[in-house]
Amino acid sequence: MRFHKSETAFFVFVALILVSGVLTVYAYHSVGDYGFGYVPRVDTLTVARLLFGSAVLTATALTFGMFFIYPLIRTQVREEGKLRAMTESLSMRSQTLEHAALTDSLTGMQNRRYFDDALGEYLQEFRRINKPVGLVILDLDHFKAVNDTHGHDVGDEVLKAVANCLRDFTRHHDVAARLGGEEFAVVAPNMDMESLAKLAERIRIAIAQLSVSSGNVTLRVTTSVGLAVWDRKESAEDFFRRADRMLYQAKRMGRNRVCA
Ligand code: GH3
Ligand code: MG
Ligand code: MG
Repeated sequence: MRFHKSETAFFVFVALILVSGVLTVYAYHSVGDYGFGYVPRVDTLTVARLLFGSAVLTATALTFGMFFIYPLIRTQVREEGKLRAMTESLSMRSQTLEHAALTDSLTGMQNRRYFDDALGEYLQEFRRINKPVGLVILDLDHFKAVNDTHGHDVGDEVLKAVANCLRDFTRHHDVAARLGGEEFAVVAPNMDMESLAKLAERIRIAIAQLSVSSGNVTLRVTTSVGLAVWDRKESAEDFFRRADRMLYQAKRMGRNRVCA
């Protein structure tokens, strides 16, 4: 068994006090037998020496305690404090990293990775309960032209405005994510096709009504939307692909529309 420096120091301290105590008791009994058993009688000088030795030991123990044990404990407390602060900052950092890994930095929405996990988990949960799961995929129309005409920064402002719009229209248990570029998606648990279509149409209109200023012009964007409600058998990938096919049908049919 290994002892820490401060533990060893404490044992030395206790040993010094004990020896000093024993010397004092021995001196006390040497002066007269007070019923604590046989103690050989010694002369006054020896008693004085014993008491002196005991006083020296006590003084040594106190000095040792004051100038060695106490600073050692202080250092240890300070080091523990530093260590705790470091651990806290590390755990905060890992939480921030985890948050960053799942968040889209431009819009603050959930990212593709979060979306994929959430979709998988929702389907797993909803397999057990008899409720629908809806999926909405949106892709902004002719967004490349927005960037080309007004610049990338204005394009970014449009993406942020669309993200805010999606936040406004989704419930707290919906998962609204930016999948990448100008493509967004919403997982809407507990929504059948009728309510999902209504929601998608409200979002489409709201995005078409957004206005983002660029210099003295106000630009507008539209979006195409694909919808699907989970058939309870297909995998998350197949479910996503089905909604994606609807999105491309909306594009083919002329954009700025919802296809289910
Ligand atoms: P479509 O109607 O067929 O969807 O046409 P589109 O122009 O929207 O589609 P396309 O895939 O050709 O272009 C997508 C554009 O999105 C290209 C790229 O410049 C832009 N984009 C992707 N990510 C970002 C981004 O983070 N910021 C900005 N400003 N633009 C982005
Ligand atoms: Mg796209
Ligand atoms: Mg597009």
